[in-house]
Amino acid sequence: MKRLFAPLETHPAETRAAIAPTTAKKLKDLGLEVLVQKGAGLKSDYTDAEYIEAGAQIVDDAASGYAQADIITRVRKPEASELEGVRPGTLHISFLDPFNEKALIDDLAQRNIAAVSLEMIPRSTLAQKMDALSSQANLAGYAAVTMAADRMRKILPMMMTPSGTISPARFFIIGVGVAGLQAIATAKRLGARVEAFDTRPVVEEQVKSLGAKFVKVDLGEMGQTDQGYAKELTPEQLEKQRLEMAKACARADVVITTAKLFGRKAPLILNNEVLKQMLPGSILVDLAVESGGNVEGSKVGEEVVTDNGVRILGPENLEGYYPKDATLMLASNFYNLIEHFWDAEAKDFNYNTEDEILSGCLITKDGQIVHERFKGE
Ligand code: NAD
Repeated sequence: MKRLFAPLETHPAETRAAIAPTTAKKLKDLGLEVLVQKGAGLKSDYTDAEYIEAGAQIVDDAASGYAQADIITRVRKPEASELEGVRPGTLHISFLDPFNEKALIDDLAQRNIAAVSLEMIPRSTLAQKMDALSSQANLAGYAAVTMAADRMRKILPMMMTPSGTISPARFFIIGVGVAGLQAIATAKRLGARVEAFDTRPVVEEQVKSLGAKFVKVDLGEMGQTDQGYAKELTPEQLEKQRLEMAKACARADVVITTAKLFGRKAPLILNNEVLKQMLPGSILVDLAVESGGNVEGSKVGEEVVTDNGVRILGPENLEGYYPKDATLMLASNFYNLIEHFWDAEAKDFNYNTEDEILSGCLITKDGQIVHERFKGE
């Protein structure tokens, strides 16, 4: 019987786990033996007892899990030292940050570990159920709004009371991908007035359908890649965008930036000139802070206050802000990926590289880097 192991995440900021009790049971039903490291689910409120009840075995330390595993599911990329005990031929599924982790990819190949990078799962309809970037970005978009709401000194909805009328808070969302759309929807639900902008013109309709206003900036030719990701802007386009953004920022109580460029550093969109024009006490949440930041001066895991009283939040691991649900979604993505490629007869993972989902996300296999994008780098 093949064994799957989910270790305890070692990164201090990580709150999520790669397995939930519900998926442990489903993996078992596929015909896998399921091993979970002691305490792996504690930060997301899943106890060892719940995993045991779901049919998993608890192992005391990572080393003994690695020594037995045929499949490893984990959230964060592994440290080189953590790969020491992983057996050759093991399937390792996690976020890998492959564009920035050349040495890690070489190491995985040399150790003959088959590594799947969750970031590289194609954004196709068929792969949606395994799309961990989306499941986590969705929760991060929600958390950005609740985090801002918690820090604000005014409420979000309009209130008409005998004591007077409170006007609704104004939110401005920059970048309307998965996180941005959820941020818009959440702010609207809480009663805020919402504006949004994205360089991809196709987004305008989606913004409007959520009841928000699309801020129009004529940047000339723009577009998106065949995977739906934004193309990089020229310096002139970025400057024009900054000027228009400044106006929308100046009237906002909360600005949330989510603008990312797949595999590259995030664009700097709001510089000090823009920040100076913002309202004192207004809040900026930079969701791109971990990939370079959309806001000048934002710092990972910190709150920076500007001279004019703008509070810039650079949350670390916002995806894991609500770890109970984030773990549930992520664990489901892992399960769906394994189930999709499961050979029920052989009771084993079937490396069907003809399948565009697997060829899209399998980075190393049989001692080689097999992904076209990372070969020969
Ligand atoms: P992302 O996290 O890479 O970027 C977030 C948003 O920032 C994007 O909408 C992008 O256009 C925008 N952006 C980039 N540079 C900008 C700038 N200078 N100014 C303003 N905005 C800027 O994106 P994502 O959330 O991963 O989504 C990427 C695309 O993939 C979207 O089109 C999304 O709808 C699509 N998608 C499709 C599927 C599917 O079909 N299964 C699943 C998920 C996402």
